[in-house]
Amino acid sequence: IMFSILAPIRLLSNVGVEIQSGIASAERVFNILDTKSDIIEKFNPIELQEFKSEIDLKNVSFFYETGETVINDVSFKINKGDMVAIVGPSGAGKSTIGDLISRFYDVKSGSIYIDGSDIRDYKMESLRKNIGIVTQETILFDESIEFNITYGLSNYTQKSLVNAVTAANSLSFIKRQPDAFHTVIGEKGVKLSGGQKQRLAIARAILRNPSILILDEATSSLDSESERKVQSALENLMRDRTTIVIAHRLSTVQRADLIIVLENGEVIEKGTHEKLMASRGLYHKLYKNNNPEIPNVE
Ligand code: ATP
Repeated sequence: IMFSILAPIRLLSNVGVEIQSGIASAERVFNILDTKSDIIEKFNPIELQEFKSEIDLKNVSFFYETGETVINDVSFKINKGDMVAIVGPSGAGKSTIGDLISRFYDVKSGSIYIDGSDIRDYKMESLRKNIGIVTQETILFDESIEFNITYGLSNYTQKSLVNAVTAANSLSFIKRQPDAFHTVIGEKGVKLSGGQKQRLAIARAILRNPSILILDEATSSLDSESERKVQSALENLMRDRTTIVIAHRLSTVQRADLIIVLENGEVIEKGTHEKLMASRGLYHKLYKNNNPEIPNVE
């Protein structure tokens, strides 16, 4: 009896340690859950029912906590249905502009208007409902494929899910998974390839059907077959939407209605591909660096 109760008694001595580490973890989790957002919704905000006409950035400036100006007096307009590309060297502030339009941060001066009203006057939920974001890094959970595409949505049908997945070129690879839509994809989607992860993020955005799309183009290189599939999924996603492409590769921006060239947080050029190529400024230089095969016509 003595020997058989020895092991459980030893185990009991560890219980205190486990409780302590449990309490410490719970404290950290609740600290995060209790964190107040810096973005404060206005009292009596207006509802952005449906995006109708334009997004207008007027003299927008912004800096992060470090205090260094990241966006400096930026103004441009995006008309409904247009595709606007933001290009520029790394660190120019391209992604920050996407974050400001989605109101993840508030501008420090100037304003961003949607359909004539300052985005700070809108109900946050209604603003975010109208904006879909596909970021450089796809956030996926250790859950089923269906959960990862539909989380946060309660009113989707299986038909709309299959339609979204088909438009995102993902149906065939999902069907090949052991449990199809119910396959659990591992922490951060480790069981999927880079292109498959991106296509799941695109399916997620298609299912939500936002009228404004912010596309922070992935920098990660995919093989050409995977790239082609992602590209055609993106074409489906961008159709009939107002799209802001934060472009890291200039191949996608040629057909943009407007290209904004940023450098050190300032707009230094804007116009169409043809106009910017003709003016031989920074865009021309960046484009040439991306496409060394283009001959130099002087
Ligand atoms: P890339 O092409 O490399 O993605 P980008 O043009 O999108 O760059 P941003 O990500 O907007 O540039 O960053 C603009 C500047 O702001 C950079 O100097 C960056 O270091 C800084 N920055 C970005 N995010 C933060 C943050 N959360 N806190 C402090 N500084 C930041």
